[in-house]
Amino acid sequence: DGGALSVLSRPSRMMLLVNPQSGKGQALTLYNNHIQPMLNEAGVTHTLVITERQNHARELVKEADMSQWDALVIMSGDGLLFEVINGLLERADWEEAIRTPMGILPGGSGNGLAASVHHYSGLPAPAAATMRGRDQSLHCFLSSRTSRRSLSPPRWLQQAVLQRLWPQCVWYYSRLNVGFARATRIKASLVSTEELLVSCGFLLCQGLVAHMDLVSIHLCSGLRLFSFLSMAWGFVADVDIESEKYRHVGAARFTVGTLVRLASLRVYRGRLAYLPAPEDDHSEVEGSRNDVTLRCNGQASSLDPSRDSPRPKTFHNSCHSNNSCKARGRRESAPCRSASGALAGPPDSLLPPLDQPLPGDWVVVQEEDFVLMLAMYQSHLAEDLLAAPDATPDDGVIHLFYVRAGISRAALLKLFLAMEKGAHVGANCRHMVHAKVRALRLEPLSPKGVITVDGEVVEYGPVQAEVHRGLGRLITG
Ligand code: ADP
Ligand code: MG
Repeated sequence: DGGALSVLSRPSRMMLLVNPQSGKGQALTLYNNHIQPMLNEAGVTHTLVITERQNHARELVKEADMSQWDALVIMSGDGLLFEVINGLLERADWEEAIRTPMGILPGGSGNGLAASVHHYSGLPAPAAATMRGRDQSLHCFLSSRTSRRSLSPPRWLQQAVLQRLWPQCVWYYSRLNVGFARATRIKASLVSTEELLVSCGFLLCQGLVAHMDLVSIHLCSGLRLFSFLSMAWGFVADVDIESEKYRHVGAARFTVGTLVRLASLRVYRGRLAYLPAPEDDHSEVEGSRNDVTLRCNGQASSLDPSRDSPRPKTFHNSCHSNNSCKARGRRESAPCRSASGALAGPPDSLLPPLDQPLPGDWVVVQEEDFVLMLAMYQSHLAEDLLAAPDATPDDGVIHLFYVRAGISRAALLKLFLAMEKGAHVGANCRHMVHAKVRALRLEPLSPKGVITVDGEVVEYGPVQAEVHRGLGRLITG
């Protein structure tokens, strides 16, 4: 029913993986200052593991004796959790391993799942950081310079953004008729990651565990991976990747990236189709049998049972490889296999092979010119982007958004500003379509482009996805 399944036992045997390089490179300091004291006080015992390199966490959970652990907690961005989930699902005993409760503490620059967990808890949004001297510097800028007339100056804009010359940026975007007050909010929308961290630490201490959807994704080379947060193509994917270079500004990197990319808006060609989700869906959560045997119990918990059930979010797992896309259109999408040769991950029931036609009950989108495609299975794409406001952790739904070509820069900026509060959904933007789906297929036609899964770049080419309801377990507090 989407409520809490169980409560972590105490003392718990929690593995806490910290990526010291995530975000602004301060994850360890944040752990020492905030998380360690909080967990100690709450009596949550844990083993700290500091990741040393890319794929370290993935290899570790793939080989670990999982009977030793009650929970895996990630303190990093979404990228490290992606590794962990994929590592778990590459195991021969994936079915058992993926039931390990997973927790997330925002330490990265892309903290979509942490922001979603916070959102589901119903706690108030972390306060926006104040902008010191904003009004004064804005005034100085506006009164001294009136010569910048051009509306497409990406070079200076990029410089302005990188040097954090916010008044210049605000000036530029206010010229796009979004209104001066709204444009200044671009800057003020910097949420405080530290507040989000403290909130997520608190929820972790409570230790409530809930189901979380995972989405199986087939790539053109035949590889399959599982995703817990999002899949993107076009504008959002480009911003995600380009904004890596702004990671020193932390969670604001998406805002910065959006502003810069907006100046060089382009159209992406492709074919999109989806299988709509039934209106009133009471389908069963996958893997719900035997849930009670999770290595959790409520005995020693000091939780308040009167709290509302949390609604945690999604997960995914992936079988990784660096294969190129040569097999496109020829090979069937092969299921991914664990080291033992057994099938890894649950079978997909809705997806024909990627090179085969789709069944008749799929909806084929008529347009082939897009600005973006975004598939969300949790509420937040990033800390200040409430992309799928009505998503819940285990609703069994992929919230599909696409924006048709022809949208103006101003309208697109308005959409992203509205997304801060999730208001884009009701904004009546005629270029944006929102559909709740079970599965989707995207065939990009533009020769070059980027597809991201949970913020990580995957092979560019035809791709399809199917949601597996409640396959993972998420500590939601
Ligand atoms: P961010 O949101 O800051 O990008 P992520 O969690 O997405 O944080 O981490 C980014 C990448 O860093 C992940 O792909 C992960 O594999 C990698 N990583 C993990 N540990 C280390 C490390 N010690 N040094 C460098 N990279 C690492
Ligand atoms: Mg990342």
